[in-house]
Amino acid sequence: MIEEQIIARGVTHRPTLAALRAVPRHRFVPADVQREAYADHPLPIGHGQTISQPFIVAFMTEAVAIKPGEKVLEIGTGSGYQAAILAAMGARVFTIEIIPALAERAAGTLRELGYDQVRVRAGDGYQGWPDEAPFDAIVVTAAPDTIPPALLDQLAEGGRLVIPVGPQHGGQELMLVTKSKGKLHQRNLLPVRFVPFTREKDNEKT
Ligand code: SAH
Repeated sequence: MIEEQIIARGVTHRPTLAALRAVPRHRFVPADVQREAYADHPLPIGHGQTISQPFIVAFMTEAVAIKPGEKVLEIGTGSGYQAAILAAMGARVFTIEIIPALAERAAGTLRELGYDQVRVRAGDGYQGWPDEAPFDAIVVTAAPDTIPPALLDQLAEGGRLVIPVGPQHGGQELMLVTKSKGKLHQRNLLPVRFVPFTREKDNEKT
């Protein structure tokens, strides 16, 4: 997986590659798709959600270039895999998942594997995690139409935010926002396709 899907496509950041080698991806996917855990595509994790393709996890992780001890916010815990990768790089991770059953399962997996420096919260990540802000990096793994303002506010000086932005069907861009001297700088990295960023009121209807 690392050689063919990730290094071959240009990810070179060594701590990212080390984390991908260290985290057992198969432990984060449901039993019925476990054989495909290292395949080159996203996989269903239940509740209509997916764990991202390995390359996308690697690409986003490289983009935020975590250093040990940094504080990281993730919106969209899903399986907990991306959170484990960030933790394996030495980050203190705060992750929010809007579907309570997924939050619970991810917290259980992370606990079993010993990723004690990850805190999982069930809820809508639109407002970020104000009590723990600011964050050195923020990783969003569901796509809103525009960047939630609270996430920009909660970015530390020197902070990096990676987020897919755009409509559910077609036209999403993975964006990198950095904050330096209080100013935000934004650029597009890659066209992508993520599950939608939902709000608590959307879920009440289902
Ligand atoms: N990072 C995950 C990928 C999960 S897919 C992993 O490594 O497995 C994206 C997740 O974002 C889904 O589980 C979805 O339920 C969640 N999500 C969508 N909107 C959200 C919101 N407003 N707040 C928190 N989580 C949200």
